[in-house]
Amino acid sequence: MKPFDPIESLAEMRHEFGEHGGVNMSIETSTTFTVMDPKTMPEIFTGRRGPEAGWFLYSRHFNPTVFVLGHQVAALEGAETGYCCASGMSAIAGTIHQLCDAGDHVVSANTVYGGTYALFHDYLPKKSAVDVSFVDTCDLEAVAEAFRPNTRVLYVETLTNPTLRLADVPQLARLAHDRGAKLVVDNTFAPLVVSPIQLGADVVVHSLTKFINGASDAIAGAICGTTEFVASLMDLHEGSLMLLGPTMDPRIAYEISMRLPHLGLRMTEHARRALVFAQRLREMGIAVIYPGLEEHPDHELLLRLGNRDYGAGGVLCLDLGSTARAYELMDRLQNERRFGYMAVSLGYFDTLMSNPGSSTSSEMSEEHQERAGISPGLVRLSIGYTGSLEQRWEQLATVLREMGLAGTGVE
Ligand code: PLP
Repeated sequence: MKPFDPIESLAEMRHEFGEHGGVNMSIETSTTFTVMDPKTMPEIFTGRRGPEAGWFLYSRHFNPTVFVLGHQVAALEGAETGYCCASGMSAIAGTIHQLCDAGDHVVSANTVYGGTYALFHDYLPKKSAVDVSFVDTCDLEAVAEAFRPNTRVLYVETLTNPTLRLADVPQLARLAHDRGAKLVVDNTFAPLVVSPIQLGADVVVHSLTKFINGASDAIAGAICGTTEFVASLMDLHEGSLMLLGPTMDPRIAYEISMRLPHLGLRMTEHARRALVFAQRLREMGIAVIYPGLEEHPDHELLLRLGNRDYGAGGVLCLDLGSTARAYELMDRLQNERRFGYMAVSLGYFDTLMSNPGSSTSSEMSEEHQERAGISPGLVRLSIGYTGSLEQRWEQLATVLREMGLAGTGVE
């Protein structure tokens, strides 16, 4: 069988023309929708008529423009369907609340985005009576042992933030399914690179805020899965998107949809530059983490599970051994060389730099960070594609040489 290609899958979708025959779709800004016959209204309310057939009710339920973007993201993931919401966090929170009732249990990777960690560690047990155990999901035995009779969800990130370990999705899916649980994968770091649904995951969540939107000008999220699951999120009595209401604005849905046609080009260039930088950093003797390097512990797994042609992602990490060095590097790269910006987030056209231990993973205690492999000197670089590759490399290498760091990562 021909291997799955996310960009081909997107291109196979029916094109959405504008209402006057425009090549771009129209934006449906209406919050409410009229019917010609009063008897139609209860049919929409009871789900006998739905958005697939063009029946809309109210835009916190389904909105036509958001609906199109949801289908586009689902096509990229090879999922049956998908829907979009206001943020990556609302996609994660909505999914977990849909799959878990009070008293249920989640097994989560111990390395996840700090906001997800806080949701799981602090919020869910207290507010929703959902208990979460954290394990090293690279250790499949530890994962199996963490399951309880009431475990409903196994939760992982495809490429962990920030340690860039790859989830063995087929094995994790088997573990979850054998125990009656669902595998939920956050694919924010690896759109196009890995397609978790194709590998057995039940639900994929995204922060569209990152690579998929690509311009750091919109906060947005998506949930992909079966038609039944997405419909359940919109259930009028128990749907977590419908009732908690993290609704995506249709204008944002339009903006993001307009950026999907060049997602493949962008991801390829992010990854091309990240690989060249990682190889050259290694040659300089800097401790570098990038799954595209042969010595990365999951390099072989990525070759097996990853899609062809989209590389190993646009994020790499350097370990400089101390927070002070990490700060100095970022400060000089931004303020002396204009290499990139000290800012959280990723997937921007310029390079973004952060020290995860003191920013995006700071919700975790020092002990948890240590267990999760988040060392204090880590610098996470989301490699951009502005300027030329050689110009950017010169900026980076100059500061590393000036700081005397060449050779410091050699064991
Ligand atoms: N998932 C991952 C892996 C992230 O890195 C982030 C944010 O940094 C999120 C989810 C949350 O996304 P958002 O900021 O769109 O709510």
